[in-house]
Amino acid sequence: MKTSARARRVGIYVRISDDREGGGLGVQRQEDDCRVLAASLGWKVVELYVDNDVSASDRRKVRKGYRRMLADIESNHIDGVLAWHPDRLYRQPAELEDLITLIEANDVEIRTKMAGELDLSTPTGRLHARMFGAIGKYETEHKQERILRKVQELVQAGAIHNGGHRPFGYERIYEGTGPRRKVIEDRIDEDEAKHIRDWAKRALEGESLYSLVADANSLGIKTSTGGLWSYQGMRALLASGRIAGLKEHRRQVVGKAVWPAIITVEQHQQLRALLNNRAEQAKENGAQRTSTALKYPLSGLVRCTCTEDHIRMKTSPSSNRKGPVYRCPPKGDGGCGGRTIKIADLERLMEKLLFAKLEEVEPMDEGDPNDPRPALEQKLGRWERRVEELKEELLDGDRPGREIQGAIDTLNSRIAQTQREAAEYSVKTRILEVSAEELREVWEDYPPARRQSVYRSLIKEVLILPATPPKNVWNPGRVKVFWK
Ligand SMILES: [Zn+2]
Repeated sequence: MKTSARARRVGIYVRISDDREGGGLGVQRQEDDCRVLAASLGWKVVELYVDNDVSASDRRKVRKGYRRMLADIESNHIDGVLAWHPDRLYRQPAELEDLITLIEANDVEIRTKMAGELDLSTPTGRLHARMFGAIGKYETEHKQERILRKVQELVQAGAIHNGGHRPFGYERIYEGTGPRRKVIEDRIDEDEAKHIRDWAKRALEGESLYSLVADANSLGIKTSTGGLWSYQGMRALLASGRIAGLKEHRRQVVGKAVWPAIITVEQHQQLRALLNNRAEQAKENGAQRTSTALKYPLSGLVRCTCTEDHIRMKTSPSSNRKGPVYRCPPKGDGGCGGRTIKIADLERLMEKLLFAKLEEVEPMDEGDPNDPRPALEQKLGRWERRVEELKEELLDGDRPGREIQGAIDTLNSRIAQTQREAAEYSVKTRILEVSAEELREVWEDYPPARRQSVYRSLIKEVLILPATPPKNVWNPGRVKVFWK
């Protein structure tokens, strides 16, 4: 028997299922919600029960987690149960009846995030529980549909033009001819889709869009209107939800589209996070756009120590016979104007350091304790859930819409920032998965832009210290590399 002084010792029950509502609701999310609920009730979580209905080939297979939970109730190991929704907890009437029998014999409380307390000790409570079993699933599906319908209404009200030209990667099927023909289907164009997948992969490995554009144009790949690729065009393509089979409205994904996907939703999210980040970095670093192809892969990373914020050194054509150098900007532009380092010398050193670094880094396995992504995912889950709640509030209309929209916007920008952090880390791990040997083999064939992306994903900055006499002798000690 429990006393009121003792916190309830409870178990969280989560279930993975492939039903529509459960499909979008990860186990982690169910667990997170239940933990929050436990904290608010002052309950102590001592067990976690997980069942996977998806992988069970035999649907009638006994749910192991559920059985273990019942046994723990019986042995008084736990005296409370938390679940996300009653329909997570029991799947069939018989399972509910088992639970009711047990609860009548023990002092056990059940709470769910979505439906509150499940009181199986009273006839009314039991009736509710039985009803939840029957209608719970229907109800949540219905709610999802309600939100989706609302969004669709908004999209239509926003006058989306379904016209426009054929999207790259797809073959467009029309009904009728002439200006009033109707689009009836977008099918994948395998040749173009192959390019999209290649570009997406390279962008995710950190290659710059300029480099992809130059490559596409040199290979004679045309845009869907038959023109040359531009930075903006490449960016719009790779950041679009369209190629992941997602429908967007004002750059926000509003749902799954009717056309097929060329890349995965995960790739899309990483691409979008990365490309947004690059746009911001470009702004910070001042206009970095150059129409001429990049010549020196270390550009942007090489900095002088004469200022506190390490001013960027710029490439400068050979004065005398030294060959091109990186030079600190003149005094009028905030630098010292004097410090230079020969590009050829620096590149040779940096290649050596890069390969040494790759040899020293152990290949990451799945359990890297420094991997920030699990923590980031948790944050994301929490915020995304909150956005969903706020969207529902928006439908209810109790609070001023502007206020809620403001909160949604704040959360969305936090979500974007966090997705970026996760994506940046993924780029780094992709590079680190390549062994030094593998990279050495392809390094010679890498254009400067691609080399730059490798350097950039691993290096924060390369500091150049003042020259020491004798000044005309190469001194690698002047170079200090800060790895990410
Ligand atoms: Zn300087």
